Amino acid sequence: MSGFDAIVIGAGNGGLTAAATLAKGGAKTLLLERHNVPGGCATSFCRGRFEFEVALHQLSGMGDASFPGPLRSVLHGLDVLDRVEFVSMKNLYRLTIPGRLDITLPADRNGTVEALTKRFPAEGKRIKEFYDLVYEFFNQLISVIYMRDPEASSEKYPLYFKYAMASSQDLLDEYFNDPLLKASVAAYWGYMGLPPRYLSFSDLAALIFAYIEFKPYHIRNGSQALSNALIEKFTENGGEVRFNCGAQKIELENGAVSAVVTERGERIPTGCVVANISTPVLYNELIGVEESPKEKYEEMSGRTIGPSSFTLYIGMDCTPAELGIEETTNFIGAHDDFNHAFSQLRDIDEPAMILVSCFNVSDPGASPEGTCQIAVVDLQYLEPWLSIPPSRYAEEKYRYAAKVLDLVERVFPGFRSHIEEIEISTPITHVRYLGHPGGAFYGFDQHIKDSRLINPPVQPISGLFHAGAWAAGGGFQPTLASGASTGRAALKHLGMRGR
Ligand SMILES: Cc1cc2nc3c(=O)[nH]c(=O)nc-3n(C[C@H](O)[C@H](O)[C@H](O)COP(=O)(O)OP(=O)(O)OC[C@H]3O[C@@H](n4cnc5c(N)ncnc54)[C@H](O)[C@@H]3O)c2cc1C
Repeated sequence: MSGFDAIVIGAGNGGLTAAATLAKGGAKTLLLERHNVPGGCATSFCRGRFEFEVALHQLSGMGDASFPGPLRSVLHGLDVLDRVEFVSMKNLYRLTIPGRLDITLPADRNGTVEALTKRFPAEGKRIKEFYDLVYEFFNQLISVIYMRDPEASSEKYPLYFKYAMASSQDLLDEYFNDPLLKASVAAYWGYMGLPPRYLSFSDLAALIFAYIEFKPYHIRNGSQALSNALIEKFTENGGEVRFNCGAQKIELENGAVSAVVTERGERIPTGCVVANISTPVLYNELIGVEESPKEKYEEMSGRTIGPSSFTLYIGMDCTPAELGIEETTNFIGAHDDFNHAFSQLRDIDEPAMILVSCFNVSDPGASPEGTCQIAVVDLQYLEPWLSIPPSRYAEEKYRYAAKVLDLVERVFPGFRSHIEEIEISTPITHVRYLGHPGGAFYGFDQHIKDSRLINPPVQPISGLFHAGAWAAGGGFQPTLASGASTGRAALKHLGMRGR
């Protein structure tokens, strides 16, 4: 078997942009994907007359042509922007806590401050000051971390040095009194999989900044359209892809990558591998505990596996308007205590906070005319699902789905009577399709103590690179960007310059 300059393992977001970057840069590249379609989470599947989006609810960091965000620049660099259509949303989200709160925040800084002030007038001054802080803090973070200002100091960037290691809860408590106001501001906690108590203020500020400044987007025809565009560009530039073909082993010679062995038993020589798989599987299984550097285990020790989700993919026989759904992104909380809600992700008794997203609101063509597709996402850890015997799995899945639908119906009455198709995924489904421990699609939990701001990941094996959620944190923007930057690093390793 003749070799490749580089082999990319996994065609999730990070693997796709790494492969596209390598092929564009002239590297002879092979992409191995265990599944039969590209995308990992960024994919879709069909049931009845619906094509369901698996993962994407709100794309961050896009911006438009006149004000491009960092993700738009990544996709522009890979020549796929003209192959995919991005649809912007006018609002960040509607947050409802039945009987107590119903608020919609526009994707606009002043609009968000106004909406919050209207609902919480006594705290109007502090609301404005908080959003000013988010912007000022985030600008300082960009100068220190991304622009690497060599003169960075606490005098020059006081907000960054004061709050970089603070929790979101610290700042919510410093600025606000009303728990419902704190909930309204921090509703995006689910996008990091950590509640305000554990979520760094840096991460919350980044989410708020990215979605307000560059607006939330989704992709016409779903994230599969972007995955397809990336794979097409990769093959047009000479890349080779094999589906239904997992990697089983990465071989090393003198501490450097020398080959990949596939699950079909084929040994393919290469001096460069980009892995788009979980860190534990990469080191424990593909490289092997004996060969893996101990620094990597030191880095992993104390880290915890992030959440997965329980998701209902629903095709409705009516339009969103008939259901009273006016926003693409609707968070519904059973209560306002998100720290407690987080502890509920480890049991399957009652859903604490769900996301109801309906693409048809911003893109009426997201399903056949007169219908709509809806995803209801409830973050969940794998553990409670593992304790269910296989004989009771289906029963438990439908029992819990009924509880989730009860919560949906508290905001959208009559919802159930319009269901035409329904498919349910649990954390076990994500383990099966992604191959990640815990079915964790954000990678490790991003606790403040594990922040890349203080602990940049180490990579001691020559020729081995890592892209995606386990390397750079979860979400479309970070994983797509991490693949592109990892691809550039791999090209440099190969002595090639990116084009
Ligand atoms: C229900 C849900 C909702 C989400 N909502 C959002 C959202 O609204 N906004 C947002 O930004 N993010 C969202 N995310 C998160 C986001 O989708 C993920 O963080 C991101 O797509 C992960 O990308 P990745 O590069 O880590 O690759 P992954 O998607 O994890 O893909 C890894 C790939 O590697 C393949 N693979 C594994 N092992 C092997 C092997 N041995 N050999 C070959 N191939 C292998 C797998 O088959 C898979 O294709 C959501 C995710 C889910 C599941």
